[in-house]
Amino acid sequence: MRGYRLFVAAVFGAIALTVHAQSPAPVSNATPESLVKAAKRAAGVDYAGTFLRICVAPDNLEGAAGRGDAGRGAAPSGARTVPDRGLWYAKPYKVFDNLYFVGTKIHSSWALTTNDGIVLIDTLFDYAIEPEIVEGLTTLGLDPRSIKYVLISHAHGDHDQGAALLQSRYRAKIVMGAPDWDATLQRPASAPGGVPKRDVVVGPEGTKITVGDTTVDVIATPGHTPGTLSYIFPVKDKGRSVVVAYAGGTAFNFPRRAENFAVYRDSQRKMAKAAAAAGATVVMSNHTEFDRAYDRVRIAQLPRAAGEKHPYETDMATVQRYFDVGADCAEAQRLSMQ
Ligand SMILES: [Zn+2]
Repeated sequence: MRGYRLFVAAVFGAIALTVHAQSPAPVSNATPESLVKAAKRAAGVDYAGTFLRICVAPDNLEGAAGRGDAGRGAAPSGARTVPDRGLWYAKPYKVFDNLYFVGTKIHSSWALTTNDGIVLIDTLFDYAIEPEIVEGLTTLGLDPRSIKYVLISHAHGDHDQGAALLQSRYRAKIVMGAPDWDATLQRPASAPGGVPKRDVVVGPEGTKITVGDTTVDVIATPGHTPGTLSYIFPVKDKGRSVVVAYAGGTAFNFPRRAENFAVYRDSQRKMAKAAAAAGATVVMSNHTEFDRAYDRVRIAQLPRAAGEKHPYETDMATVQRYFDVGADCAEAQRLSMQ
């Protein structure tokens, strides 16, 4: 244990001391070690949680081949254990002019408001849907009945168990990647949260979801699951437009095969390009450990000094480094298998 602590301290020490630098373009003589180093540089102090999770201790490192949907995000069919509320409940907050956090301490759910209804991004475990999303929106002065679309980043229970309720109660349209719809529809009716009916199916070409004055660019980023979706969308910070790149799946809990890492790597590069083209200066994730959502939504409530940025806003280079971490960590794993 002591050795592990020293190791972790060394990793974070190294991260803290690292000079911020763009990770170099991948070269043909890259090795797993050089890629992990590049990922560490790219992570800097901004993405330590992501680096730790997928480069230092990937979930599928041992004995996970074929584990697939049994990763930590998924709840076994029929299982219904509600953890103590104190471990997960988080208060809802307005974070940007048109973006509201209604997630838990661990998982994010966001309400993107438009002039014609709400786009809800991710839906948490079934036990959190009423206290966080339904009551959270109401507390914030928003009407859950005005949810037009529910975007599911991927079909693991921690992000999709609220989908069926929002579809049946509010007639919201559920948007999911095609392979993740297929996986969802195989669940038994007794699965936690129930099973939504097939609705908006997103193929590899992606799609755009427009509600009123707001369009979300939905990008197919297979890897974490075969149907993982990521998003690019605009928000407003005190009236100023800011573009968000939302990463829809991060952990390596898929079967440990070289081709799966290649697919994951390519999706990170695809998102990096889309984020750059859109001028994204904010990265968001569906797990608070990857974008420090729990802390940031609270910091966003504090008054800011003149010229001080929103706590979520970085710059385009910092956004690129997030996707560099994912691509480099995946490529390091792929190479280590050859
Ligand atoms: Zn997942």
